Amino acid sequence: MTALPARSLSPESDRRRSPQEGERTDILLRLARFATSAPYAGVYLVQDADDEQGRSGSLLCRGLPVDAEVVVAQLARQVVLRGEPFELIRTVDRPDGEATFPRSFLGVPFSSQAPAIHGCLYVMDVVERRWTPEQRLALQDLATLTPQDLLAEVGEQERRALETVVRVLAKAVDNLPLGVTVTDLSGRIVYTNPAEARMHGYSVEEMIGMPASVLGPPEHRQTDPLKPEEALSWTRETVNVRKDGSRFEVRLWSDVVTDASGEPVGLVTCCEDVTDRRRTERRLLDVAMRDPLTGLPNRTLFYERLSNAIEKQRKNPLLRFAVLFLDLDRFKIVNDSLGHHVGDQLLRVVASRLLDCVRPGDTVARFGGDEFAILLENTGAGDTAIDVANRTLSALSQPVQLGGYEIVTSASVGVVQSATHMTEADYIWQAADMAMYRAKSAGPGRYEVFDREMHREAVSRLRLESDLRRGLETGQFRIDYQPIIELGSNAVVGFEALVRWDHPELGELHPNDFIAVAEETGLILKLGQWVLSQACREARSWEAQGDSPAPWVAVNLSVKQLGQRGLADRVREALRAADLPPRRLRLEITEASVMVGAEAATETLQELRALETPLVLDDFGTGLSSLRYLDRLPIAGVKIDRSLVEALRTDGRRAKLVEGVIRLARDAGLRVIAEGVSYAEELDELRRLGCDEAQGYLISPPLAAQAVQDFFAPSTRRQPANPAPLSSVLKNEDRAEPDDSARSTAGLAGELAPQHPVSQRLLPGHVPRAPTEDTIPFSVPE
Ligand code: C2E
Ligand code: CA
Ligand code: CA
Repeated sequence: MTALPARSLSPESDRRRSPQEGERTDILLRLARFATSAPYAGVYLVQDADDEQGRSGSLLCRGLPVDAEVVVAQLARQVVLRGEPFELIRTVDRPDGEATFPRSFLGVPFSSQAPAIHGCLYVMDVVERRWTPEQRLALQDLATLTPQDLLAEVGEQERRALETVVRVLAKAVDNLPLGVTVTDLSGRIVYTNPAEARMHGYSVEEMIGMPASVLGPPEHRQTDPLKPEEALSWTRETVNVRKDGSRFEVRLWSDVVTDASGEPVGLVTCCEDVTDRRRTERRLLDVAMRDPLTGLPNRTLFYERLSNAIEKQRKNPLLRFAVLFLDLDRFKIVNDSLGHHVGDQLLRVVASRLLDCVRPGDTVARFGGDEFAILLENTGAGDTAIDVANRTLSALSQPVQLGGYEIVTSASVGVVQSATHMTEADYIWQAADMAMYRAKSAGPGRYEVFDREMHREAVSRLRLESDLRRGLETGQFRIDYQPIIELGSNAVVGFEALVRWDHPELGELHPNDFIAVAEETGLILKLGQWVLSQACREARSWEAQGDSPAPWVAVNLSVKQLGQRGLADRVREALRAADLPPRRLRLEITEASVMVGAEAATETLQELRALETPLVLDDFGTGLSSLRYLDRLPIAGVKIDRSLVEALRTDGRRAKLVEGVIRLARDAGLRVIAEGVSYAEELDELRRLGCDEAQGYLISPPLAAQAVQDFFAPSTRRQPANPAPLSSVLKNEDRAEPDDSARSTAGLAGELAPQHPVSQRLLPGHVPRAPTEDTIPFSVPE
């Protein structure tokens, strides 16, 4: 008879039941279901021992629908009342006509003296079924089981289930393609699966009882039993030994086996034969890492070794290394005149000669084409690298007999000796490249060592980037404005904004010195935005002069800016903030920038056009494609490139082309602007060809913002008795005579200045830039 305390079965007191008691009930119900194969089992417990009718019972049956509970409780009470098993097979109809639980019910009474409890154990089903006599008996037996009996019963069931699990697992392990062994604490094998035995050339029987260490190579053999502190799980790749002594590569992973108290009792180890996989990997890697023609390491492998050398030096600065970059001189001639076959043979000869010049630990690599690289390790503080450079040059200078020809070859070599600051393989390679180019430009068969000066050149670029960032933050930029005149009236109608950088150490820098770096680093967006806003602000104070309307300002947009989302919004905002009408801004875009991001740019260009700010295609005529784009772009004008303007004077054939280009643009209804006008004859010719506007040193160099400002300032305007309107600038009669045309371009503006009131005021104290090359060489001060 069960000794379950009465309250333990009432659902309300579920929470207060000890887990053990709850477990007993659960076990009882599970067994009841198991014995009768009924989906539901439950207990009805009479709470008051004197309640013979069983009226105050409580029901415990998980998952029973609420409307069934009433019926089940009634049936259970019947059982208690009768004191004997009660069985029912019928449908209890609900008032709404739907059949409900239970269809089949079987209950048996139970009771005990101490503590005095009685009630009913029942099972039920939702379908009509008959309970077999065995099922009835089983339920009756269960009702008399003590909690101990219950636990013992379930223990037996679980043991049987566990045995099944073990059998299944053992079968699985036996059939695994992986080797599995279990060793005891003394390192002896107590279990092994067939795969493990097969892998090692033994039978399973042979292996049982064998020390597991026999499977490893003798040099790794460790006979000590497993110490608990060593009993950790691990994974490693190593070599194992077969019964016949042959070796193979394996991957092992091991885990501790513990007993119930957590004490290690042994080790289970899985073993995978990875020989084939590793061999394939190595072969693939080798193919990927070697130059097929010469068998030398390729660029990838070279870089890997170079990175290792850098790492070694980082740990120990005495472990210096050197890199040599060799480029054969005139290899192309051999290839082209004697054929690729001879060229290939020559490359193989070069490879073997280079190998003869280095020590075994060094790396000779081919980078493709006629480029070779050498990594010398442990060069010490001496001149090893230069010795090797000399050796390779002399080795390569020995004539080679190939296909009946005697070929004399040579190479240019760039040498980089490691230094502690060289922590990037890319940097070292660039350095070697730079030195090689120096060597090559000095003539064939030379080497050049990357030195401090080259280093400075390399870092100056890096420095420029960080300086740019700082310059933007601390306001080191300003804008010069170059006047643009209308050829019909000679009036200054606008100014082009040209950014300048007052570098704290390098002095005034022009865009060609830094725009490229700004583009690469993306800083151009910030810089461009600043130029745009600043130019709009400064242009706001330029006022109308006499008949001429207030001049506009032309701002150059970079490729990156044009590809930037929301550019039109930024432009609109700059105009609004400066209170400048859209028509007083021009945007100059280059044909390159339009072509780079053609699709994205077109969208942005349409947006810009909607602003009514004219777009001008800059550097026009430098790319052939521009003509094709003309009618597709929403532009208002083109700016003829300086090189074409120059051609008007110097290159009769191209002058014709310029003529054509101007005509084309005009036919397309575009305004034509000429830039870089330096000679009076250029200006005459442009006028004749119908060009609309011009800009250049002949007219004026770019001017400081203040100079432009002063001119427009009301006080300055009021000063002269007869203020000259801007439109009077460069009237035809003021133009330089043809004789002057051959003179320095800046000279003309300078000469105009004293006699022309406007020029005079436009150019106070301005020293025009010498009209030399466009590029101002970027130099680093010592
Ligand atoms: P660009 O737009 O073609 O500008 C004209 C360049 O030619 C200016 O050089 C100007 O000083 C120069 N120049 C003007 N007249 C003459 C002349 O008669 N002879 C000669 N040899 N040169 C003349 P700068 O200021 O060095 O600008 C170079 C380029 O930098 C500009 O070429 C423009 O593409 C770019 N740039 C200038 N400012 C900005 C800017 O704010 N943003 C962007 N993205 N680019 C700019
Ligand atoms: Ca421009
Ligand atoms: Ca230009």
